Amino acid sequence: MRYLSTRGHADRKQFCEILLEGLAPDGGLYLPESYPQIDASALSRLRQVWQSEGYAALAFEVLSLYIDDIPREDLLALCRKTYTVEVFGTKEIVPLKPLQAAGQAQPEMFLEALSNGPTLAFKDMAMQLLGNLFEYELARRGEALNIFGATSGDTGSAAEYAMRGKKGVRVFMTSPNGRMSPFQQAQMFSLLDENIHNIAIDGVFDDCQDIVKAVSNDLDFKRQYKIGTVNSINWARLLAQVVYYFAGYFQATTANGQKVSFTVPSGNFGNVCAGHVARMMGLPIEHLLVATNENDVLDEFFRKGVYRVRGTADTHETSSPSMDISKASNFERFVFDLLERDAPKTQSIFGDGLSRDGFFDLSADPRFAKAAHTYGFQSGKSTHADRLHTIQQVYAQNGIMVDPHTADGIKVAKEHLNPAVPMIVLETALPIKFAATLVEALGLEPNRPAQFEGIEKLPKRVMVMKADVAQIKAYIAAHCD
Ligand SMILES: *Cc1c(COP(=O)(O)O)cnc(C)c1O
Repeated sequence: MRYLSTRGHADRKQFCEILLEGLAPDGGLYLPESYPQIDASALSRLRQVWQSEGYAALAFEVLSLYIDDIPREDLLALCRKTYTVEVFGTKEIVPLKPLQAAGQAQPEMFLEALSNGPTLAFKDMAMQLLGNLFEYELARRGEALNIFGATSGDTGSAAEYAMRGKKGVRVFMTSPNGRMSPFQQAQMFSLLDENIHNIAIDGVFDDCQDIVKAVSNDLDFKRQYKIGTVNSINWARLLAQVVYYFAGYFQATTANGQKVSFTVPSGNFGNVCAGHVARMMGLPIEHLLVATNENDVLDEFFRKGVYRVRGTADTHETSSPSMDISKASNFERFVFDLLERDAPKTQSIFGDGLSRDGFFDLSADPRFAKAAHTYGFQSGKSTHADRLHTIQQVYAQNGIMVDPHTADGIKVAKEHLNPAVPMIVLETALPIKFAATLVEALGLEPNRPAQFEGIEKLPKRVMVMKADVAQIKAYIAAHCD
């Protein structure tokens, strides 16, 4: 298996080469040269693997279609080490929970629980694997890596919990001082591992991102201090997420003739892009529903064919904050496929056009209609009022508390139900991470898993710093050897 860039660079790379890289040299994103195809007999075999051996074995089967530069026994060991009951809480790892409106057996609707990992958001599903892959590959090369990133909450904590104590890896994570939820702050700052550095920046999330960009653009510094990232454009993260579309499908169906649809709360288009990959492989997915919040860049595209990046002033701070994006950083991957892998056109749209015009318009391109017809995409959006209403409705009807992002998904899913096709909504976080919105909706504190009792009172390890690139570079330099 070789990987190419969406912008047409001539290089073809293997999995472990792109594992530790971010963007391709031409600024594009990596994709496999082709999607391995799962025919009916392969699908039956995977169902068998899922049923008899479980998630880790299924993950190995899917990953090994894309990774041929790690010996099979090592890859299997990495999957087994990652997807354990101890880390993810259940034997199924991603169990389905029925979510039916009272008195309505059909259409079937399920929540796929992806948020029982160490940081209670779906990002653990990929990040935990990434931590083990990084440690493995760095040891093999005799190298080290310093991960430098910016987080508004979920990504940074997932990265820190995945990399803590790993040999060869250090994490420097910036976050906007005082702006994450108290639970998120406690989760990150209570990590006392030596290889984890929390840097709280006096500023907003955009200030943190600007600092990361400034450091990434300093190629000498980057090389000298072996700076890397774990952001959502990393192909390995996307690939790890493909696995739970298969696991969801096998749980919602009994035979391969059946189809399912997925609804995915979306921000950077990483999670739902993994669904697109699973569908391209031949997993019988009817629709992929993209659910956005008030930051509806993606919903607008799927409705109108126009993709319009938002400015800082147009990016809303919402009660589903992990979906508050101004542009969707993984979207280029899907557009490349939509344009029948036309790299020059992708380059002209994402390389030049978007930074010049702030938008692109495919509404008159005959290929745009394929987004729905050929690729199965639909979309919808949800607002703060919808979120509260959905949280109340699901609690009243099912006795389940859902987090605000998952509520966005459920709201949009309900608008697109088809009696003949089960709908699986991806649960992207547990409600305890966003307790204030749950209290607003229900007047109740969400349940707290036992291991998180009292974390707000634990000792904290965090450096508060000004939004000053030079000062932060000096800090990194002083803490690398
Ligand atoms: C990251 C995140 C999302 C958005 O996922 P993308 O892959 O960026 O589309 C949604 N919900 C929660 C809770 C998240 O942490």
